[in-house]
Amino acid sequence: MIGGNLGDYRFREVCQNMETKIVRIRREADAFDEEEEEGLRQAGETIKRGGLVAFPTETVYGLGGDALNPESARKIYAAKGRPSDNPLIVHISRFEDICGIVEYLPETAEIIADAFWPGPLTMILPKSDKVPSDVTGGLNTVAVRFPSHPAAKRLIAYSGGYVAAPSANVSGRPSPTTAEHVVKDMKGRIEMIVDGGKVGIGLESTIIDLTAEVPCILRPGYVTREMLGRVLGKVDTDVTIIRPDSTETPKAPGMKYRHYAPAGALVIVEGEPHRVVDYVNRRIGADRACGEKTGVLVTEELRGQYEADVIKCIGSRSDEEGIARNLFSALREFDEEGVTRIYSESFSSQGLGQAIMNRLLKAAGHQVVRLQTEL
Ligand code: AMP
Ligand code: MG
Repeated sequence: MIGGNLGDYRFREVCQNMETKIVRIRREADAFDEEEEEGLRQAGETIKRGGLVAFPTETVYGLGGDALNPESARKIYAAKGRPSDNPLIVHISRFEDICGIVEYLPETAEIIADAFWPGPLTMILPKSDKVPSDVTGGLNTVAVRFPSHPAAKRLIAYSGGYVAAPSANVSGRPSPTTAEHVVKDMKGRIEMIVDGGKVGIGLESTIIDLTAEVPCILRPGYVTREMLGRVLGKVDTDVTIIRPDSTETPKAPGMKYRHYAPAGALVIVEGEPHRVVDYVNRRIGADRACGEKTGVLVTEELRGQYEADVIKCIGSRSDEEGIARNLFSALREFDEEGVTRIYSESFSSQGLGQAIMNRLLKAAGHQVVRLQTEL
């Protein structure tokens, strides 16, 4: 779906041949050697000067620009081809810096920060005048996150303290979980990429709106509803997440767009394991007869039973964190192998499974086949 300011797209045409410098940081290093430190300092200077730098966080790679500079926000939208009504998350590197960008801090924000910051959680708060409306898509709220990734924190501090950073993918594509994914989408469009290897979590942050009377989850992520409930008591979840076929508009503007999508047509198949395998293998046979290249996105438990051309196993059902970490990579790999029809197993909608299913449903454009249970 395309919306927002089409001027963005003209800019995108102009900035595709930029030289993109790559600096490397050891994966999960929490102290940096001289060369790494110098790379992060240069990256910070680049952001301060109004340039864009992609960098690793614990969730996915972000595409960072100065959050207090409206021109940087416009460049981010242009580089991603992102509709400009889809606001950006502002990243900070010290909790106290939040005071500069919010109008006031509700008590719930302090409770959540104590429990989950630094970490994979974003809070929606009333914005101060300091935050340009280009960053918030015209909303009077701002999304704030304090990441735990050491290189991200260092870079944000070197950049002046406030970095607007959406995921560093071309809009609509799966979020990048390695620097190679970022190179594929962003080389030539941005000044620098900080390569910190594969990220730890692999799904974007949980988003919670603290401006509502009852805190409300707008995007599920690594910090689950159950975890938030334990510290807050009452927590709502945006209806569009619980019932993905709802006709309501999601409260996080970005959640209304098709996302994470591989180029091939993706269908999720839900049901008892042996029925899922039978159904998928039958469909694969029919697809092949029509000249399609077929793929399946499966778990360890059933991987040997599928007859597709390309089989991507994203881990064991007993390890949801592993599944989360591998999901976006696998979706991108189907594209690289030219797969045109993809079938995926389905996941539980509890705990981290809710975030996994949310991303998968979006990637599939909500194409789900539900197989009847045998009576
Ligand atoms: P990304 O940066 O690609 O992880 O996407 C950021 C997500 O945060 C999108 O779904 C945005 O719509 C959402 N978001 C950012 N700012 C706000 C806000 N002020 N209110 C509600 N959702 C927001
Ligand atoms: Mg994104």
